[in-house]
Amino acid sequence: MVRVRYAPSPTGSPHVGNIRTALYNYLMARRYKGKFILRIEDTDQTRKVEGAVEEILESLRWLKLDWDEGPEKGGEYGPYFQSQRLELYHKVCQELLRRGAAYKCFCTPEELEKMREYQRINKLPTMYDRRCRWKKQSEIEKLEQSGMPYVIRLAMPTEGTIAFEDAVRGLVEYEASLIDDQILLKSDGWPTYHLANVVDDHYQKISHVIRGDEWISSTPKHVVLYRAMDWELPVFAHAPIIKGPDGAKLSKRHGDVACLEFREKGYLPQAVVNFIALIGWSPGGERELMTLREMEELFSLEGIQPSPGIFDITKLQWMNGHYIRQLSPQELYRTVKEYDATTKNQEYLSSPKRKIFHEALEKFPEEYVTKALVLEQERVKLLSEFASACAFFFEEEPELDPAAVEKWFSQEYVLKLFDFLIAYFEKKITREETTQADKTLTELKTSSEVKTSLTVEDCEKAITEATEKLGLEKRSLAIHPTRVALTGRTYGPGLFELMALLGPTRILERLHRAKEIVLSKQ
Ligand code: GLU
Repeated sequence: MVRVRYAPSPTGSPHVGNIRTALYNYLMARRYKGKFILRIEDTDQTRKVEGAVEEILESLRWLKLDWDEGPEKGGEYGPYFQSQRLELYHKVCQELLRRGAAYKCFCTPEELEKMREYQRINKLPTMYDRRCRWKKQSEIEKLEQSGMPYVIRLAMPTEGTIAFEDAVRGLVEYEASLIDDQILLKSDGWPTYHLANVVDDHYQKISHVIRGDEWISSTPKHVVLYRAMDWELPVFAHAPIIKGPDGAKLSKRHGDVACLEFREKGYLPQAVVNFIALIGWSPGGERELMTLREMEELFSLEGIQPSPGIFDITKLQWMNGHYIRQLSPQELYRTVKEYDATTKNQEYLSSPKRKIFHEALEKFPEEYVTKALVLEQERVKLLSEFASACAFFFEEEPELDPAAVEKWFSQEYVLKLFDFLIAYFEKKITREETTQADKTLTELKTSSEVKTSLTVEDCEKAITEATEKLGLEKRSLAIHPTRVALTGRTYGPGLFELMALLGPTRILERLHRAKEIVLSKQ
């Protein structure tokens, strides 16, 4: 039975490395029909951060990495917060003392500092010199009776090697004498990570310990603990270190690394799990794009690479574009609307086009908004980009790019072009719309016009006819100024498609405005 766990310490919001660990454990459990356990390692009271547990749960929920046992879920092997399991750690410590595998250390902080100073000066490895380990039983009892505080340390072997098999690295060996007699229980009665982690992995029947490479140097201490208690070792698998594209260890410097920041930036969870999985794992072959379900079928420890994984944000952006394009029109509408309503991304919230977009999501019919989003879906890489990409569909008067106006509104044929198009589209206003002409323009735009009969073909015909009528060399000469008049810019979705969506009323209004600008320049 595969039982794996993600065991975060609530010291902050989970970042890429933590989430990769969670993901690999999750995939391992699903692949082998096992259990994925979430355990909160909150024994270091000094490093605890308010709200961190909630951020851990929220990150997992967002990425849909459901856990089978743990906070909110419960389970047979709880509690799942280490702070609620202190008694168990004390019990194991007593047993270790009884077996002679651990000992009481009465050294004061001052003594330890002096010892380290001595080691530094004499260029010795800075580690506990084990002086309390060799104290006589009578001496220990006397110290204890005097009320002297003490810690409990693990008695590491003083010679030989500690070896274990790692599913990723193969055989790993450490020289025992170089490893510190690790503190297991602090003088205040709280366990350290090493004790609590091993005890819980044992009692929660963890079969595989999958975690980041930064923990590999702790593993020999854990192995000694398991052996001292005659417990069976789990399978260890240490996923490789993560580096930025520059080869340096991944850090804040490489951009956002906290999982929930990706959500705020406008990434989809589908893209984030796919991307993170591939930092250090591959299903073999060239395959890169995989849904969570697909990875659940493909995951194996053999696919984890020992060489460093590279975090390349441009790849994540590319993947996000891919997953945005995968959304159906309804999903796209729902996803963008939810993002707009819930994101805390200040840059997005204060961006110039967001207000217009936000109001449009409320005021305009779902069908119109959806079509606008679909037209931009091809190019957009982040959910946060839709606001500025689509704003011109909703603005009363789209902002005009001055350089574009300068270039295209100064063409000598442009007035004739606009006049031609105005005449063309006036004919296209349907009776239904003209009868509504007394309504305000905004009302008209947000109500009936979605029903306009204007087709993409009609719009293409308008441009083709204008090109011929004006004797222009190529159609693009008509397309560019029209695009600037209607959208304010020189790039964007296909002109005929966007015209059909804008509809004749809005087209006419914008062409008139463009014409006025041209006239005012003459
Ligand atoms: N509490 C440790 C962490 O924060 C767990 C490490 C492990 O998986 O053993 O990552």
